[in-house]
This record gives sequence, structure tokens and C-alpha cells, in this order.
Amino acid sequence: MKAKQEINWLEAFKPLFKKYGSKKHPLEHKNRYQLLVMVVLSARDSDKHINVVAPPLFERYPSMKELAKTTPEDLYPYLGKVVNFGNKATWLVEIAKTVGKDENIPHTIDELTALKGIGRKSANVIMSESGDAMEGVIVDLHTLRVSPRIGIATGTNPEKIEKQLMEKIPQKKWKELGMSLTFLGREICRPSNPKCPECPVNGVCEYYKNNG
Ligand code: SF4
Repeated sequence: MKAKQEINWLEAFKPLFKKYGSKKHPLEHKNRYQLLVMVVLSARDSDKHINVVAPPLFERYPSMKELAKTTPEDLYPYLGKVVNFGNKATWLVEIAKTVGKDENIPHTIDELTALKGIGRKSANVIMSESGDAMEGVIVDLHTLRVSPRIGIATGTNPEKIEKQLMEKIPQKKWKELGMSLTFLGREICRPSNPKCPECPVNGVCEYYKNNG
């Protein structure tokens, strides 16, 4: 069996980066404040749902400054259908009180993950979408499924998968890598019926080699 280290992943992923590397994240935000709020709300919920829920919330609370003055309970009427809305409302108000205004939203992964309700995946999404220098790779549920299928990573732990991806692809491509793997999972490498014949990485994919 060919050792995984022998694959030049950067070269192998060129067609994938070409197809998906410049995609924007599906959360429809207009600024960094909106992005952060929507990322927190989208945990265990769908981007599509949060795109519908968020506009009335932003009309009432257009920035961190307004959000910092409210209480979690005041947010409930806007967030009532969002998964885990009670905790998310508490986290958002706490974040707003911590950062105070939009300009103070952090730009590093350590500072972002120090905020309530923001883990590595959320921090990576915020940094990727707002043009910060990437310190990691977005690993969402799609990337978690797709990466071991391809064979670029093993296991089911998001942080371990992220580390393996960071070791195989140079930092300057981490933003493209995150976007590419999530869109590959959303559109082609679906959970039960991956469309392997049309996949841009089927030439190196272990799953396709074994099942195609
Ligand atoms: S070849 Fe098939 S299993 Fe492999 S990444 Fe593409 S769609 Fe997924």
C-alpha cells in the first residue's frame, strides 16, 4: 500500500482549490460583528436558518455596543428557534460586554477562543472570512467526514484532524483548504452517496480507491 506521506497534497488539491478555494462562507454577514454573532448562533444549527434569523436581530442590535447594553432574556424573542438559544444569548451578551465595540473584536485565535462560545472552528471561520492571517484550518462536520475519506487525515477528533491538515498543506493555503473541504463535503462528498466520479480529488482519494 502506498504510504500517505508520498502524496504531494498541495499538488493533488490544486483542482479542489481551483473549484472551491475562493468561495465565501455561507453565513450572509455584512461586517465582522455580524460574522461573529452568526458564527456563535450557527453552532449545531444550520447556516441557512441563521441567515433567516439574524437580520431582525441586527436591525435591533447593529453593533457590539448595543448588544453590550442588553440582557440575554431580551434576545430570546429573536433567537427562540435557534438550537441552544439560551446559552448562545448569554454568551453573546458576555462577549459584547468583554469586547465593548466592534473594533475590539480580536484578530488572533488565542484571543478569539478566550471568548465565551467560540471554539477553534468558530475562530477559524471568523479569521478566514475577515481576511486575518490564518493560524489554523476550519474543520466543520463536512471536513471531519471528508478528510479521513480522502486519506489526508485519520481519526474523528476535530483538533487532531486540523493538526494533520496543517502539517500537509502550507499555511498560505489554509484559508483555501478550509473552504475547499467544507464545500466538497456540502456539494460532492455527501455522507451516504458521495459523487466520486465528478470529484476533483478522486485521483488521490483512499475511499474511491477502495470503493470506486
Ligand atoms: S472521491 Fe468520493 S469519497 Fe473521495 S473525496 Fe471525492 S466524493 Fe468523497
